Amino acid sequence: MTAIAVLGSTNMDLVAYVPKAPRLGETVTGREFRTAPGGKGANQAVAAARLGGEVVMIGAVGADEFGVRLRAGLASAGVETAALRTVEGASGTAHITVDDEGGNSIIVIPGANARVTGLEAGDASRIGAADCLLLQLELPLEAVLAGAEAARAHGVRTVLTPAPAQPLPAGLLAATGLLVPNEHEAAALTGLTDPHRAAEALLREVPEVVVTLGAAGCLYAARGREPVTVAAPRVRAVDTTAAGDTFVGALAVALGEGRAMPEALAWASVAASLSVQRPGAQDSMPTRAEVDRAAGARGAGGAES
Ligand code: ATP
Repeated sequence: MTAIAVLGSTNMDLVAYVPKAPRLGETVTGREFRTAPGGKGANQAVAAARLGGEVVMIGAVGADEFGVRLRAGLASAGVETAALRTVEGASGTAHITVDDEGGNSIIVIPGANARVTGLEAGDASRIGAADCLLLQLELPLEAVLAGAEAARAHGVRTVLTPAPAQPLPAGLLAATGLLVPNEHEAAALTGLTDPHRAAEALLREVPEVVVTLGAAGCLYAARGREPVTVAAPRVRAVDTTAAGDTFVGALAVALGEGRAMPEALAWASVAASLSVQRPGAQDSMPTRAEVDRAAGARGAGGAES
């Protein structure tokens, strides 16, 4: 079984569905309100656990009702939460307004996530015991950097999702094995809108890059190798929230099982394509049996040069 450590965020998503988003100073009556656990770290942890990974979540929730629910949600997905601290104050929240055209605006208040400024006792050995460490940028950069350095010291592969996009310190890039931006993040990091050129530029900083391209699949580039594109299964997408997190969780599981990168990418693409056919973030993530069945139906392929 693949052992995966995730150092990242947990948020409660607070979603208001409205006919039209209010303008500054305006009040509108919405249709519906829902809460759902989210945060890129927790999403990746749940995706990997649902696919059979043995997952440890490192991070923090607040000492509030959301914190209790966030922890319980992770535990019920099979994620180990002993290294998820409860800190004073509020849990992280994402305040999301979705209008009738599907447009959204989001305010993220990091809350407890902002209090994760480094590793605590036992975290380095948890990371050292894993096959892979998953990192994103919703925790303070110093914590992300400390995690990446601990992984490097133990020879553990680091997979970094550079979201939300921001300039990355050289030390973090130096400790990153695989960088997985979407095309907008790749463009923000390099100033290059062509994903092939962006990937090429990023290879100066990290040994391997996967640029995810939504319905168009993904592009894999590694130093000294020809880039490979992997098509995404053609599906009817109803909600692409957390497609990228499902993709990364699945990729980590597949790589940890020793699959070659093109095969692992094809399997992760199948997992992500299942998630976009259902509404929600963590709720939409597929099980191992669902991905294996869909991947089997497609054949093992998916890679194209
Ligand atoms: P999000 O922010 O919505 O979680 P992202 O922007 O990080 O996603 P994307 O590049 O949109 O990441 O999607 C990640 C992967 O999910 C893609 O590489 C692809 O495999 C799969 N995917 C996304 N959208 C679709 C779609 N419409 N049809 C099939 N697969 C999709």
